[in-house]
Amino acid sequence: MRYYFIIFIVYEILITSYFYFQYKYKVDSYHEKTAALIQNSFNSVINTFTIVNDEFHSEQADKLAALVVQANGKSPEVRNKVRAEILENFMPFYSNKNLDIFAGMHVFDKDGKSLLRLHQPSFYDDDIIKRRPSLQKMQQSFSYQHGFEIGMCDTTYRYQYPLFYDGAFVGSYEYSVDYNSILKEMKKFYDEDFIILFKATEMEKIVKENALKTKFNYLQIDEKSYYSSQNCYKNSYDEKRLKYLYKLDEFIHALELNRPSVIDYHFKSVSFSSVVTPLKSITGEDIAYIVVTIKDDSEEIFLSTFFMETFIVSLLSLIVYLYILKQLKHRAYIQNLLNIQKDILIVTDGDRIKDANRALLEFFNFSSLDEFITQHECICDFFIEEEGFLQKYNNGVLWLDYLLLNPNEHNRVKMQNQKTLQVFVFEIEFENFTGKNSFILFRDITQEYAKTLELQNQASYDGLTQIYNRSSFEQELTKELEKASRYGYTFSLIMFDIDHFKDVNDTYGHDVGDVILKEISRIVKNAIRDVDFFARWGGEEFMIISNGDIKNSEDFAEKIRSLIENHQFPHIGDLSASFGVTEYRTGDTAESIIKRSDNMLYSAKESGRNCVVSIR
Ligand code: GH3
Ligand code: MG
Ligand code: MG
Repeated sequence: MRYYFIIFIVYEILITSYFYFQYKYKVDSYHEKTAALIQNSFNSVINTFTIVNDEFHSEQADKLAALVVQANGKSPEVRNKVRAEILENFMPFYSNKNLDIFAGMHVFDKDGKSLLRLHQPSFYDDDIIKRRPSLQKMQQSFSYQHGFEIGMCDTTYRYQYPLFYDGAFVGSYEYSVDYNSILKEMKKFYDEDFIILFKATEMEKIVKENALKTKFNYLQIDEKSYYSSQNCYKNSYDEKRLKYLYKLDEFIHALELNRPSVIDYHFKSVSFSSVVTPLKSITGEDIAYIVVTIKDDSEEIFLSTFFMETFIVSLLSLIVYLYILKQLKHRAYIQNLLNIQKDILIVTDGDRIKDANRALLEFFNFSSLDEFITQHECICDFFIEEEGFLQKYNNGVLWLDYLLLNPNEHNRVKMQNQKTLQVFVFEIEFENFTGKNSFILFRDITQEYAKTLELQNQASYDGLTQIYNRSSFEQELTKELEKASRYGYTFSLIMFDIDHFKDVNDTYGHDVGDVILKEISRIVKNAIRDVDFFARWGGEEFMIISNGDIKNSEDFAEKIRSLIENHQFPHIGDLSASFGVTEYRTGDTAESIIKRSDNMLYSAKESGRNCVVSIR
């Protein structure tokens, strides 16, 4: 029972673990998808800006390059003239495109010096390149690039395009997109506010102190600090959510990862997923994170599915477990019932044993039924072959089928106890309960059987001499006559009578007479062959059914006569007997053959006794 309990517990642990890992897997892959969606919406927004800017570049770059080339290395006057021309040509375009999106458009000469800010035309010729890693990169690589960059007053998403004239690099220009514009666009995807957290260490290196104070919101999370745009929280509810009520550890961990991650949490009984996506600067450094918090109860649903699945499966397995337990108890109960039964009891289809009680194992010296079955399929392997006892096959019929066909017979088997080697006799009782299988009870009748045999013996033997009695003789004679008439073989009958026996009784007493009768019986019994049948006919008269013709039997009678004659009997010494012998004749009856032998015996007596007289 304990074994089954352990199996049940192990099963429970396995199934719970399986569902738990499934739940974890579902949550993880859902998180991956969510993070990928956020990343994709960011990419889509950036792509929109990229398309607009690329289009402008393909249409206007050559025209702008032709103007910038005129300013390179020229006097302030010439540069002023070029500036005025660029303003005249591109300002309408810039203003038009502004659309509350562009933070600025900035043109640089070939040395990376500021040539013109369309968003602030009065401020130029400064050494901006020293503060602009992206510009430094442009001067080295002359290649198009875009990405976030922290500026002195602001942080923007920049597109930088190199300008070429007659195949030579002549300068560059840049569009800056306000990061709030990007967030605003992203909001359209989820209708949730996206927040960018800029790393304070990066911001404080570049942004002017007063710009930090006026334009950004300072946020301390654990030991690290960040700047987010001001008014990025819709209300204090959101701020609290972000600042205090996050699963802070997870959030900090997410900020340390270099890949998007998702944190599920509850706030005021609403389920949220916060997605943290790291952002790289235009020069490839990690400078910020996009954080968005969306209402999302998927994790909760996955969790409740997990509990539900585990609960249902556990409940079902508990029911099965209890059922098995009940069955086992029931089986143990039945087994006890069977074991109380001291006789061998089995369930079998005749070939294989299906079940058995302890008596079987004890009788055949096995420790378990399995052991028995692996060595002996059928109990009938143990049936001792003997006439009058059931065998495995009886006239070609399997023993169990034979039982079914002959339910009212006393079906007996002999089997040997494998421990004591004693042979037992069993009477079979059976109950067929499923058509194929039967209960078989081997009732031990060894003692009863021995008694019956004894009684049978008593009925056929003579009490005094222990040789066959008259009725046995008559039965045997009938059989012999039948055989002789049917198969044409012959036999002879020898009848003999002790001479002057009355005198023995009279002289020595009846007891001595009895001793003589026993002694004569013993002598003759030792002299006859197995095939001969020797019986006491009555008083001091005996019969021998001899398996031979008249000649053989005559000789045989003579041999016995001589044995008696030459024997010294206790008390009385010498004794003799007279013999009448006859052979079977066709048509003989018991009466006729006995009569003939009796006549011969009479003749022997008449002839002086102690002789053999025979007739064919
Ligand atoms: P014979 O046959 O030679 O003519 O003489 P007999 O004396 O043997 O003849 P009879 O048949 O007259 O006597 C048979 C005797 O055997 C009579 C009886 O007392 C004796 N007798 C018969 N049965 C038994 C027995 O069981 N025990 C003893 N002691 N005597 C028996
Ligand atoms: Mg007699
Ligand atoms: Mg006699």
